Amino acid sequence: MVVFYTGNEGKVKELRLLFSQSGIDIVSANAIGIDTGIPETGLTFVENALIKARHGALQAQQGCIADDSGLLVDKLSGQPGVKSARFSGENATHTENLSHLLNCLVDVETAKRIATFICCLVYLRHADDPCPLIAFGSLSGLIAKKPTGTGGFGYDPVFYLPKHNKTLAELSAAEKNRISHRAMASQELLRQFCCAE
Ligand code: IMP
Repeated sequence: MVVFYTGNEGKVKELRLLFSQSGIDIVSANAIGIDTGIPETGLTFVENALIKARHGALQAQQGCIADDSGLLVDKLSGQPGVKSARFSGENATHTENLSHLLNCLVDVETAKRIATFICCLVYLRHADDPCPLIAFGSLSGLIAKKPTGTGGFGYDPVFYLPKHNKTLAELSAAEKNRISHRAMASQELLRQFCCAE
């Protein structure tokens, strides 16, 4: 069993499915009563993922995975980046962040609404682990002009994939898990788990 330090149930569902074939049982921090409110003070995804994994490992007294992820929008010089969960304010909801994003891009034509999802997954064997496993994944697409679809979470309803002619929120959970930034990072983390054993 490995603890997954996140308060985001969308991430928990995805990681559980992504790890289901590996024999590694993912337990969410919420399920074992760990507080997930540690401030994300890093300037990069990897710094924040390490902060979260270290805090989770300390509280759980065992190995811990954390995910720091977000959206980089070309026309916004890489924003919202590590602030994706707080784009429209400290305690913003997914819906508020998504509306704010659409407002920021209101005058940008379709072909220039280029964006990339990034996911950094970190595994610490214990809170003082000096050699964490670190994996990245990314997914490129365009920001649609309006939300479509009900699957996934966060910015999924406006993350349009030209190749599929669908937003991420229109894909099934299994389809998203074949191509997503989190899927790519999970595959890489699992590869490192196997090598480290
Ligand atoms: P954090 O990793 O807790 O800082 O939050 C990441 C934020 O990035 C989420 O709250 C979402 O707004 C966004 N995000 C990350 N991954 C995804 C995804 O797979 N779909 C949609 N939004 C995502």
